[in-house]
Amino acid sequence: MVEQCVNCDEKISEGGLLTSPNKYLSQSELSIINFVEGTSYAALCSKCGQRVNTSAHHKLNSSIDEIKDYLQRAAPDFPMLTVGVLPGANEYRALGMVTANIAVGTGFFNELSQGISDMFGAVNEQSGMALKVNKGEAAARGILVSKALAMGANAIIGVDVDYGVTNNNAATVNMQGTAIIISDPAAVLGEKATKSAEWIVWAWSRLIQLRRWSQGEIRDGEIYFPSPPQ
Ligand SMILES: [Zn+2]
Repeated sequence: MVEQCVNCDEKISEGGLLTSPNKYLSQSELSIINFVEGTSYAALCSKCGQRVNTSAHHKLNSSIDEIKDYLQRAAPDFPMLTVGVLPGANEYRALGMVTANIAVGTGFFNELSQGISDMFGAVNEQSGMALKVNKGEAAARGILVSKALAMGANAIIGVDVDYGVTNNNAATVNMQGTAIIISDPAAVLGEKATKSAEWIVWAWSRLIQLRRWSQGEIRDGEIYFPSPPQ
C-alpha cells in the first residue's frame, strides 16, 4: 500500500533510482513550524512543508541576528566597574570570576569563538598596534560581559586590564573581574545604567531562548513573541 502525506496526499517514499525521496518532516521541525507560524499541522512532507519550513527558520534566524546585533552594540553599556567594593551599604552577591584573554594578530578570530563569539564593541579606525589593542579590548569586554550574563549577573566589579605584546607582534589583552548581582542596582548605577543593564540581560535571555527554539525545544506555555521587560 502506498503511504500518502496526510496534508497534501503526495506519496511518501524513500526515493528510488528515478524518483527523489519525499519524507515527513521530523517532529522537531514540525513543532518549530507550528510554533513560529502559529499553525497546527499534524504532519508535513518535504513537498508541502518546504516553503513553511524555510519561512519559520528564516524568522528565527533573523530574530537571532537582530538580538546579536543589539548585544554587540549594547555590550559597552553593561555595568563594568573597576572598584572592588560597592559604595555605601549596597548588597550584592558575588557569582564568580570572569576572564578574557585575547591575542590580536594571528588567531584573533579563533580567540573570539569563546563566550559569545560574535560580540564585540566599537572599534576605531586607527591602524597597527592601536587598532589591535582596541579590537582586543572590545572583544575581551564582549567575552567578559557574555560570561557574566551567562552566570546571571547584572554587573561586573573589580575589573582589571593588562596589555602586552607577544614575540610575533600580536597585542594581548587580559581582562578579568567579578560577576555580581546587585540587589538594588539603581542605587549604585543610577536609573539610566540600570535600564541599559536590564535590557542587555533581557536580550541575552531572549538569545538563549531563540537558540533553544531553533533547535525545536519549545516549552509548554511559551509564545513566539514574549514582551520585553517593563
Ligand atoms: Zn505533504
